Parts: sequence; structure tokens; C-alpha cells
Amino acid sequence: MRENSFRLAIMPGDGIGVEVMEAATAVLEAIEKRHDIGFKMERVNGGARQYQETGVAMTEEGFEAAERADAILFGAMGSPDIRHPDGTEPAPQLDMRFRMKLYAGLRPIRAIPGVPLALASPRASEIDFALVRESTEGLFASRGKGIVTDDKVATDTMRITRDVTERVSHFSFKLAERRARRRKRKGTVTLIDKSNVFRSFAFMRKIFFEVASQHPDVTAAQHSIDATALDLIRRPWDFDVMVTENMFGDILSDLGAGLVGGMGFAPSADIGDDHALFQPCHGTAPDIAGQGIANPVAMILSTAMMLDWLGARHSSEACLEAADEIETAVDAAFGAGSVRPYDIGGSDGTGAIARAIIERLAPRA
Ligand code: ATP
Ligand code: MG
Repeated sequence: MRENSFRLAIMPGDGIGVEVMEAATAVLEAIEKRHDIGFKMERVNGGARQYQETGVAMTEEGFEAAERADAILFGAMGSPDIRHPDGTEPAPQLDMRFRMKLYAGLRPIRAIPGVPLALASPRASEIDFALVRESTEGLFASRGKGIVTDDKVATDTMRITRDVTERVSHFSFKLAERRARRRKRKGTVTLIDKSNVFRSFAFMRKIFFEVASQHPDVTAAQHSIDATALDLIRRPWDFDVMVTENMFGDILSDLGAGLVGGMGFAPSADIGDDHALFQPCHGTAPDIAGQGIANPVAMILSTAMMLDWLGARHSSEACLEAADEIETAVDAAFGAGSVRPYDIGGSDGTGAIARAIIERLAPRA
């Protein structure tokens, strides 16, 4: 019996989700061969295709299988042509966020050596910040509850609670403490809001600074969303951990991905107190699905985040090492200029990129 054995729910989903998941499981199999870690992978189906065929995007058994697992690895779900009668898309990933209370949407934005950056400044290669998007309330709390009155006025409501704001703030400060240890410098958490205008954000800000006082080793700061949009172009290398409301986080995470090579390079995690789901920031990309040209790096880096989270949660050195090893292998594959995916103008497909990364993992013990 292996010392570190983990049950993973594997949810490929639709479109390129299926293709990048294949790359991720190949990386996990390579990790199993190199480390004292075992994965029991249970495939869980769901998504737009399944909705079209059965009327249910994800079954109750599917949700329960995900809840039973030690961690969930998720590709992407959805299709622009497959919708509910009200025009919205089936989105089991959002259902899971609410159901499993995955309040912390973690999106690390890091420049990978060798990947072209959007900004010309030489400092752009220093970009390395982590965006924490609160993922269960904010404006998205209104999902499915918005109202249109007399075909004249539409209203959605923003909701901020003390409980979730405290949790997501603590999460962000703990993340900054951990990053500070690794980077050997003091950490900073910046709350991004619009507290000069909205009561909900002023409330969020008050609670954020209450929580900050319990983390004296980290600097706490606040910045307005509009100024942040400007500064993410002007000086993104100055940010460390940023925490923000759901809708703002949704927007800033795409902006962040754009800074470091695009959606194909942006991993993410949805973390709660009891469960965690790891998925690339991108969607199903129907325009390129089925051609074998999707960039698997976002999915592979999400897999590394999963190992890092499992390692921290279960005190598993092997998982922590494996997480670092994957990141290092990605950097080495791109730093050497030996692979270039289609989304940055190259001609290496999903499989070739996964192989280049696997080849650069540390040799077998
Ligand atoms: P969602 O609604 O799920 O966020 P979306 O409509 O925003 O989806 P995405 O799938 O996130 O669309 O991506 C937008 C476009 O970016 C895709 O259509 C595709 O051209 C490109 N893209 C996204 N991910 C990748 C990837 N991994 N590799 C290559 N190109 C990608
Ligand atoms: Mg999108």
C-alpha cells in the first residue's frame, strides 16, 4: 500500500476539456511512477453534451462522486449551442461551487519563461501574483434570481456576507504567508473593491481589515477596481495576493491570463473548507475542439495546484515535491524554446506539449 494514496474525481466535460484532461492524466501517471504517490481516478461524466442527450448536465450520483473524492480535476463544460429554455447555459461547475461552498477561486498569474508576454516592459517577466476570487456570492449570488419588471427594468442583486468574507480573507492572508516563506519576502494582500461607492463593498472592506489584524506578518492594502485595471497594465509585477468579489474576480482573471500568454496558460482552483476543484481558467473552446491543438499547460498547471493543495492538506512531502516538479518542467519545456502551442503561434499539439513536459520531470527514483 502506498503511503500517499488519493481518490481523484476526473471530470473531462466537453470540447477541449476532454483533450487537456488526457494530457493531465498522462502527467499524473508519470508522477505516480516517480514518487511514492498513488491516484485512484474515478471518471465522472457531465456537461453540455450529456445535458443534450439526457436532459441533466450532471447527475446527483456525479455530484456525490465528486464530493467523495479527495480532490476534483475538472476540464471544461458547456457549449454555446446547448442551452436551458431561458437562454442560460448548463454549468455544473457553478453548481459545484455553490453546493460544495468552494468560496476561494484561486488564479495564479505567473510569467512562464519563453512564453510571449503582452507587455513590452522588461519587468513583465517578474509578473507573479495570485488572484483570489470569492466564488459563491457577490453579484453571482443573483444567478437564477434576477428579475425583469414589465419588460422595462432588470435587477440583479449583489450579496456580501460576513462569514464568507472572513473565510476568503483568511484564505488570502494564509496564502500570502505561504508565498512569503517561499519568496523570502514580506507578503501583501490587496483587497480590490469599489468601497467608495457601494455599501456592500464598504462592508467587505471593514471585515477584510478586521481579519488583516489577525495576520500581522502580512501587509494589508486596498485598491479600487478601476485603478486596479490601470495598474494591472502599468505595474502588474507589484502585486502579490489580490482578493476580490466574484464578478470583479471573473473579469480580472481573464485580464491576468492575458498578461501571461492567454487562456491556455492560466490555471485555477476552487477551494472550500472541505473540498477543492482544479480546472483551467478557459472554457470548452468549441472553435478548436477535436483538432488536438488545445494548449494543455493551464490544465497541467491546475494539476500541479491540486498536488500542492493535497500536499499541504495531508502533510505529504511527496505531493508538494511533485507539484514543484511539474511547474519546473513546464518552465524548462518553454524556457528551452523547444515547444510552442498553437495559441501563441506555434505548431505543437496537445500531445506534443504534454510529452515535452513529462520528459522534463525529474528522472525516476
Ligand atoms: P466560457 O464561457 O466557458 O468561459 P469562453 O467562450 O470564454 O468559454 P474559452 O473556451 O474560455 O471561451 O476560450 C476562448 C477562446 O480562447 C477559445 O475559443 C479558443 O480559441 C481560445 N482558447 C481557450 N483555451 C485554449 C487552449 N487551452 N488552447 C488554445 N486556445 C484556447
Ligand atoms: Mg470565458
